[in-house]
Amino acid sequence: MNPGSPPPVREPVFVVQRHHASRLHYDFRLEAEGVLKSWAVPKGPSLDPSCKRLAVPTEDHRLSYADFEGEIPKGEYGAGQVVLWDRGTWRCEGDSSEQLKRGKLSFELQGHKLRGGFSLIRMKDGNWLLRKRDDHAADRGVDIVSARPESVRDIASGFPPTR
Ligand code: MN
Repeated sequence: MNPGSPPPVREPVFVVQRHHASRLHYDFRLEAEGVLKSWAVPKGPSLDPSCKRLAVPTEDHRLSYADFEGEIPKGEYGAGQVVLWDRGTWRCEGDSSEQLKRGKLSFELQGHKLRGGFSLIRMKDGNWLLRKRDDHAADRGVDIVSARPESVRDIASGFPPTR
């Protein structure tokens, strides 16, 4: 890169990691503000717009964690198997920092399993709801987490390099 040239433009990443911890859940993470903003979704995401999925906010993770699949050793926090269930890029429909602060996030996902519009809405108790928008990628006929349990780890997709 020439000095002084603008940094290469890339879309922010999202990742969903199935986490076989003491309780199975899906960690839903969106790259924003230099970290992975994170929620634990006990039932996992749905493509059915009538399904609102509880999303419990969890601690930010570093960006490099978007590549992680493997075993968290016994005795460590979150011990258990982690599977890269989906990943890709996301696009906020507006200013993501402002929407995160307001607790009303509207966005599109470009993943292998999750695509199209979604919303994340913060409730009064501090938990959020993840919901598919009713669009071309909505699907009421399939339970995506049981229909597509496989890892996307080995799918070469031009995933941005770890920073
Ligand atoms: Mn987890």
